[in-house]
Amino acid sequence: MEELRDLIFTYKDFPKKGIDFKDVMGIIQSPEIFRKLISKMSLSEIVKSSEAIISIDARGFIFGSAIALNTSMPMIVARKPGKLPGKIIEQKYNLEYGKNTLSIQEKAIEKFNSFVIVDDLLATGGTVECVASMVRSNCKEIKGLITVVELNSLEGRKKFNFPVESMISY
Ligand code: AMP
Repeated sequence: MEELRDLIFTYKDFPKKGIDFKDVMGIIQSPEIFRKLISKMSLSEIVKSSEAIISIDARGFIFGSAIALNTSMPMIVARKPGKLPGKIIEQKYNLEYGKNTLSIQEKAIEKFNSFVIVDDLLATGGTVECVASMVRSNCKEIKGLITVVELNSLEGRKKFNFPVESMISY
């Protein structure tokens, strides 16, 4: 979807020096393109073969929720620490620009057997690897990752043994 390129602005040295931050917010300010993007993501075989969506805090929620609504699929979330109540599974990981921790509610993951991971952007793949590892440690299956943007030079997809679909790459 090359039309996304005009809507994704690059901020140099944000949030740290050396990072070219891809701002996807322009997409949700263009409803026609946003609709087209969600339709395309929803048609992915990875999405169709999954029982539920797992979307990643926070920009993943924007795209994951829209796909969930469009496909009538259930969605669970992977959130930053201290946000989810009840029993949680938690794991640390390295980000392109720092460290982070993600958590999933045990009772949410228990309900479904297979998941498609949804996020806004794939960089090093550390975030998705963290989510995949938590899901698998609960004996559940990852059918693949669907993301809006992929940064090819970081080769994040090489970390995974499941399919990856991105809508635009840099
Ligand atoms: P990674 O774990 O390195 O694949 O990083 C992916 C996560 O960090 C995604 O949730 C993105 O929202 C965010 N992220 C990493 N690098 C960038 C970037 N250059 N521009 C925008 N978001 C990024």
